[in-house]
Amino acid sequence: MRDVELFQAALGLSEPWRVVGSSFDAGQRRLELRIDFERGARFACPQCDVAGCEVHDATEKTWRHLDFFQHQAFLVARVSRIKCAEHGVRQVWLPWARPGSGFTLLFEALVMTLVAEMPVAAVGELVGEHDTRIWRIVHHYVDRALAAQDLSMVTRVAVDETSFRRGQDYVSVFACLDQARVVFATPGRDADAYARFTGDLDAHGGRAEQVSEVCQDMSESYLIGALEHLPAAEITFDRYHIKAQLTRAVDEVRRAERAEHGQLLRHTRYLWLRNPRNLTDRQADRLAQLLRLPLKTGRAYRWMLRFDGVYEIEDPEQAAAYLRRWQRGAVRSRLGPIIDFAHLVREYWLGITRWWHSHISNGLLEGLHSLVQAAKRRARGYRSTRNYIAMIHLTAGKLDVALTHTK
Ligand SMILES: [Zn+2]
Repeated sequence: MRDVELFQAALGLSEPWRVVGSSFDAGQRRLELRIDFERGARFACPQCDVAGCEVHDATEKTWRHLDFFQHQAFLVARVSRIKCAEHGVRQVWLPWARPGSGFTLLFEALVMTLVAEMPVAAVGELVGEHDTRIWRIVHHYVDRALAAQDLSMVTRVAVDETSFRRGQDYVSVFACLDQARVVFATPGRDADAYARFTGDLDAHGGRAEQVSEVCQDMSESYLIGALEHLPAAEITFDRYHIKAQLTRAVDEVRRAERAEHGQLLRHTRYLWLRNPRNLTDRQADRLAQLLRLPLKTGRAYRWMLRFDGVYEIEDPEQAAAYLRRWQRGAVRSRLGPIIDFAHLVREYWLGITRWWHSHISNGLLEGLHSLVQAAKRRARGYRSTRNYIAMIHLTAGKLDVALTHTK
């Protein structure tokens, strides 16, 4: 077998394409394979597939291919354009690359395999390409997979925000609770994010009216978003967000009190905010000591523990009665932040108690959270919201990133 035949077989080329030559530059560590079509060959129109179109003209193009051992390999070919009676002049379909890409499909497949495992910047370094070119490949395949998404089954949704940089560049993430995957991500954390989500649902076989349950935090913008754009959805306020808010209230009491009892409350933040079950014996002893003292922080802490108790009650009626008693007591606690939280419980009563009927929480999203963190790491080095969103879809979207190439 001559080398051109070997390469032809390795590339899987078929008529009328063939390898016509190869050149190897050891100094440049570069292998070039020349591909051409037979003189007089005719091609099908890429649009309507009508066969036998004459070649109109041809331009030479180069694609980066998989490395040949330690050498970079390139395909060079005259790319023909045909003239179709109906569609005019069109570039022919190429078996080894998609239109507009400077890489072969196999090279792109390698890149997509690597970006699933390591940061894009590192992939760029590994294959010796600038990471903007790597991102272009990522966006192509993610966009294509998103365009093909079927969202007709989306009925229960969890919404959460994430940010690329701490406290800025927010992204709203919408997950399908039944498929346990991110189905939509969009810049911002305003009510309009919901409008964009329902627009995307519409475009992919889903319907806003079909969403019956939504789980989210208690922010005003998300509340407006859900009320305006998901008309049939019952809103459940995510219990983890509710708890986080109460935890902040306890911490606020602690910080105010630290001014009075500086030494006593120093380095105790962790004791008050962590789940008691996760404390070491020493920490638990220390906390028990503090709880014996007449501290406001200790009282706030007990209000928090009592609040937690509501989630141990299964019966909705009993839970509501318990929560009502808790709320009435907490507003009289004389602890400002706890009183504020108790008012919030009354204001958001329906969404908080919806949990006993829907049993949905962002617990799933918290699971997705680690994937989203991984997405953040992989998008490192070339930071933009668009890249971040593409990475979220890639890691947490269970996307079908089809690397196949069809006519
Ligand atoms: Zn045609």
